Amino acid sequence: MTLVCPGCGRHHAADERFCDACGVPLVHHDAVLPPETELREKARKVRPGYAEGPLTRVATARHQAEAELLQGLLLEEGIPSLVRRSGGFDVPDFLAAGPRDIVVAASGADAAREILGVPARMPLRPPAARPAWVRVLAVVLALVSILVIATFVVGAALAQGAQRRPSPVAGATL
Ligand SMILES: [Zn+2]
Repeated sequence: MTLVCPGCGRHHAADERFCDACGVPLVHHDAVLPPETELREKARKVRPGYAEGPLTRVATARHQAEAELLQGLLLEEGIPSLVRRSGGFDVPDFLAAGPRDIVVAASGADAAREILGVPARMPLRPPAARPAWVRVLAVVLALVSILVIATFVVGAALAQGAQRRPSPVAGATL
């Protein structure tokens, strides 16, 4: 049984407890292996036939944890997938939370939708699903832009009126 440093990967004698290079507590060599096997296991599960073509969104999860759950379901059937932050939610408030798109290669899209129970033509993100504050913000922005435009138009009209008004008076005095 050899000890290995999880930081630098150096091997150490069984009676040492810390890496003399990094000061990191040493672990048994076997303990370092599982993540690698997990990756290999994942790679083995992927069916090459499901990994071809352009990326296609097949579902939207409510948050990262749900997205990872769906990814696991797809991988069990050999479909590799990516998780992306849904469009419109890539602002700082939504970095940790917020909906996620599940994206797969086009050749795996139909199988993925079947596994996830998503009808192929179903609208995945109806506009009504947007949070209330987004709609309120849109209305406020629209009102502000209308006010700004109205202010300019009225201001321009008043300025024109002010320029014209003196001229008849000036004409009368001549
Ligand atoms: Zn080390």
